[in-house]
Amino acid sequence: MNRSSVSTQPAQVAVIGGGPTGFACAIAMAQAGITTSLVARRSPYPDNRTTALLGSSIGFLESIGVWQRCGSQAAALRAMRLVDDTGRLIRSPEIRFSSGEIGMDAFGYNIANRDLLAAMEQGATDIPNLTHIDDEARLVASDDDAIAIETSDGHRVSVALVVGADGRHSLCREAAGIAVKRRPLAQSALTLNVTHSRPHDGVSVEFHTRSGPCVFVPLPGNRSSVVWVVKPDEAERLKSLDDARLADAVERQSHSIYGKMTPEGGRHVFPLSIEEPARLAAKRIALIGEAAHVLPPIGAQGLNMGLRDAADIAKIVRGACDSNEDIGSNAVLQRYERDRKADIVSRTFAVDIANRTLLSDFIPVQSLRAAGLHALNGVGPLRRLAMREGLSPSWRAR
Ligand SMILES: Cc1cc2nc3c(=O)[nH]c(=O)nc-3n(C[C@H](O)[C@H](O)[C@H](O)COP(=O)(O)OP(=O)(O)OC[C@H]3O[C@@H](n4cnc5c(N)ncnc54)[C@H](O)[C@@H]3O)c2cc1C
Repeated sequence: MNRSSVSTQPAQVAVIGGGPTGFACAIAMAQAGITTSLVARRSPYPDNRTTALLGSSIGFLESIGVWQRCGSQAAALRAMRLVDDTGRLIRSPEIRFSSGEIGMDAFGYNIANRDLLAAMEQGATDIPNLTHIDDEARLVASDDDAIAIETSDGHRVSVALVVGADGRHSLCREAAGIAVKRRPLAQSALTLNVTHSRPHDGVSVEFHTRSGPCVFVPLPGNRSSVVWVVKPDEAERLKSLDDARLADAVERQSHSIYGKMTPEGGRHVFPLSIEEPARLAAKRIALIGEAAHVLPPIGAQGLNMGLRDAADIAKIVRGACDSNEDIGSNAVLQRYERDRKADIVSRTFAVDIANRTLLSDFIPVQSLRAAGLHALNGVGPLRRLAMREGLSPSWRAR
């Protein structure tokens, strides 16, 4: 990758945004032979989030040479427990899924986003037709034939297609004239990583509480990442506790199954929302990652979907180049929209329903939730279907 502030050769595609989806997409595009500019300010990853990479994500990261650089920093997820911790009258059975039930060694791997992004940055340095413009896009403007980008430092690039990987406040989405439906949730996620005295044995545990899930996801060693969804003021209160009090609170929430807890440095609070853009592409701009979908951290879906967006747009653009099509044309953008829509809409819906039924105090809703989980627990084919669909959509070519 050229590390310059100005493109050395005219790019065909500009990817805007250097989060995990932007980097993955820029690498995949460039490796597919597309001259690519990545417009992304170089800065350390700002928080301690981790990602449970599931289904096709590992294969995709392997195919672009990233997993080989960071796989050793990840922990395998071999089983998953769902525990009803609502204390309500009608409770769901505890569910335990094992990857062996569907013939897999592991459901996936959990890795710190910081480590994943560092591997992506290293991987991107060896690719000759990838130029990194270390800046922010200030202006994105399309016309019939091309799309122009101006950065904060005044550099200009003109390309046939922009991939908007610029997160939830996407400038690219605005430039494409795509409206977004936003639904803030009265929940925030506190994230922290902990060391514990007992091993996790590769089992991820979700405690379903009345305010949302509290999830412990294995990290290498006797460590786990914690995503604790609570009311916003409770998240702030937990964040402000000193280490000893936070350790007590986390141990209580985990019912001491991990033994004694020691919080590692860094705690972050993420206000949760569901965001659904009206479209995924328009005016020579295709949206990926959180520019294209925001959902609460339930079932580890967000970045896994974002990586599928990145893989798909790179594949579609490669195909369009091979058949001498204009890669920013409406036909190409519609192909992307068609390929990604069902996955995004169905997962957003499923996560929303799972969250709503958990929060509801309405007894018929609790009964339905419990009945559904009983069926999931007891009916073998349903269990296996749920496990496979949770990883990647079955209709998608892997
Ligand atoms: C608590 C929590 C836990 C989660 N756990 C999981 C999980 O286990 N599994 C999973 O799959 N997903 C998970 N997610 C979701 C996942 O974290 C997100 O989907 C993912 O980080 C989004 O990546 P992104 O690259 O699309 O966006 P971002 O990481 O937001 O990156 C966008 C980048 O674009 C840059 N940018 C913005 N504007 C511009 C501009 N004008 N010019 C240039 N750059 C710009 C920003 O600075 C940023 O670097 C979780 C989310 C939360 C909140």
